[in-house]
Amino acid sequence: MRIDVVSIFPEYLSPLRLSLLGRAQEDGILELEVHDLRDFTFDRHRTVDDTPYGGGAGMVMKPEPWSLALDAVLAAQSAKRDPELHAELPTLIVPSPAGELFTQSLAHELAGEPTLAFACGRYEGIDERVLDWASERFRVRPVSLGDYVLNGGEVAVMAMVEAVGRLIPGVVGNPESLVEESHSDGLLEYPVYTKPSSWRGLDVPEVLLSGNHGRIAKWRREQQLRRTAARRPELLDGADAAQFSGGEREI
Ligand code: SAM
Repeated sequence: MRIDVVSIFPEYLSPLRLSLLGRAQEDGILELEVHDLRDFTFDRHRTVDDTPYGGGAGMVMKPEPWSLALDAVLAAQSAKRDPELHAELPTLIVPSPAGELFTQSLAHELAGEPTLAFACGRYEGIDERVLDWASERFRVRPVSLGDYVLNGGEVAVMAMVEAVGRLIPGVVGNPESLVEESHSDGLLEYPVYTKPSSWRGLDVPEVLLSGNHGRIAKWRREQQLRRTAARRPELLDGADAAQFSGGEREI
């Protein structure tokens, strides 16, 4: 997969060169390029913002640098898109507190794409005409990390690229570890423990030491339901009803 990110703070994205995603880039599984929006300005101050029409606080990102930056992204991505295989428009994610919520299911959907582009807003956001203009070239998706406001799109992009990147085959060493995670089946993950079996007077649940795989699986499922009911009860309604049997739903 090829990922292009446009930002006025390219160095903000440098942690994406570390750890598993860094290794994926070294191994050629993931190609990541971060573009500096200011490289697409022509004035002495490399201006990317201006005052909002209609008045109000803050500044708005100007359209012209964005169109040039996104044209450069399209050109860079074209080699990765075979028109026979990828007839649909490439995806452009625009982080925004006013977007659809980012979820594990969206991460799975995006992980199947050959290319992704991200446009990091700052100030009061990007001139809306950029999204209209880009809609003819990209499938534009405003996406929110959650119901709160960040200073810019960079932190949201880091979270999204990490969540998507680890789902690309070959990025996480043991693909089994992706199967039983929180949100993979609509529930939160069960609690996990490691050695020693007794620590500061706290014991690992006996069932996990039993070696009885059936009992362990049942215990873990119960713990998932208990934890989800306690912390995120709204998820139980979205989880597959077939998963609940023998009154477990009552937990
Ligand atoms: N005025 C905007 C609003 O009220 O919707 C908020 C602008 S915010 C200060 C600046 C930028 O941070 C946004 O353009 C977006 O890129 C990013 N951002 C802020 N909160 C976000 C969130 N919850 N999810 C994704 N991106 C966010």
